[in-house]
Amino acid sequence: MSLPDQVLAAVRAALPGSDGGVALHEPEFRGQEWTYLKDCLDTGWVSSVGAYVDRIERDLERITGAAHAIATSNGTAALDICLRLAGVQAGDEVLVPSLTFVATANAVAYQGATPHFVDSEAVTLGVDPVRLEAHLRETARVDGDVCVNTRTATPIRALMVMHVFGHPCDLDGLAEVAARWKLALVEDAAEGLGSRWNGRHLGNVGRVSALSFNGNKIVTTGGGGAILTNDPDLARRAKHLTTTARLPHKWSFVHDEVGWNYRMPNLNAALGCAQLERLPDMIARKTLLAQRYAEVFRDVEGARLLTARLGAEVNHWLNALILDRPDMAMRDALLETLNGEGFMARPLWTLMHRLPMYAACPRDALPVAEALEASVINLPSSAKLADV
Ligand SMILES: *Cc1c(COP(=O)(O)O)cnc(C)c1O
Repeated sequence: MSLPDQVLAAVRAALPGSDGGVALHEPEFRGQEWTYLKDCLDTGWVSSVGAYVDRIERDLERITGAAHAIATSNGTAALDICLRLAGVQAGDEVLVPSLTFVATANAVAYQGATPHFVDSEAVTLGVDPVRLEAHLRETARVDGDVCVNTRTATPIRALMVMHVFGHPCDLDGLAEVAARWKLALVEDAAEGLGSRWNGRHLGNVGRVSALSFNGNKIVTTGGGGAILTNDPDLARRAKHLTTTARLPHKWSFVHDEVGWNYRMPNLNAALGCAQLERLPDMIARKTLLAQRYAEVFRDVEGARLLTARLGAEVNHWLNALILDRPDMAMRDALLETLNGEGFMARPLWTLMHRLPMYAACPRDALPVAEALEASVINLPSSAKLADV
């Protein structure tokens, strides 16, 4: 049997009872969603302040162990403010993986800074600390407390890492590199709610981190995000900047700097509070689904399922199949076959350095990211697929 036919057969075996029409990732509303949303409508608290906004922030602090959570209108807005809080200024460079969703790089551009692309590792799909260290030795020096790109004479202010599909990147290695090179560490943990690295929830190692609750994430607020930090001053600034930088006063409108309206509306927060109550159940069922995929792919030669590395607890947001040998034609054949039979499968994001607006940005050689681009596909991963 050809590899695409073997993969199709394996997916069918992992999803008994599903024959076509299977989405990549569907939201699920089986808890208190209607009750909490109705409460917003009944009380009139639908907009940018309300009890559910406070509640979701406390819920996120409890779940992630971060000292402070600040709810935002979406994950991209959270990333935007994270970089500002990390001290990124116009003209700076920020190290980011080329293998990421476009919002990671866009957030850098919003600050007037330049993304500087670095390579990933095949075990985690996240930034490779060893390759990063080697790249910095070649291209940068530490000048006082600032990392400077020796080619462009530009400060490299921060390192933004991303936890791909909920798989933690090597936070120990990356935090070490960031400290040695005086880089502020920022975590794009948009895909990582519920995942842990050596027992610590993602988003706790970076100075500031971002979560997303978009409709396709493990839990959703419709649209929404959050900033996490353990630093009380940064938390205060995050709340201030995302709420128009208004000074607290009963009736007067005084704003002490340019702020943003990046607030999460109470309606969205209400949906999110109900969703977060079901996060453990989502993770349990998604873990079951991932185990099923792991079983059916054990005997398929030429491809393997991405599994959690030692020390990682994974939320199993999206399951990923990796070809043993990078092969763009084979990758596309798999996507054609699965999608043709109604099993929604997707490739990795087009690498950032290939996008027109980022093609001229500084970068390391990216052999691993490029190989992964030609070898990874996502498989249908909704929690309900485990309910058979
Ligand atoms: C979803 C996502 C974002 C953006 O979140 P939105 O809420 O859609 O703005 C950012 N980074 C990554 C890696 C994501 O997956």
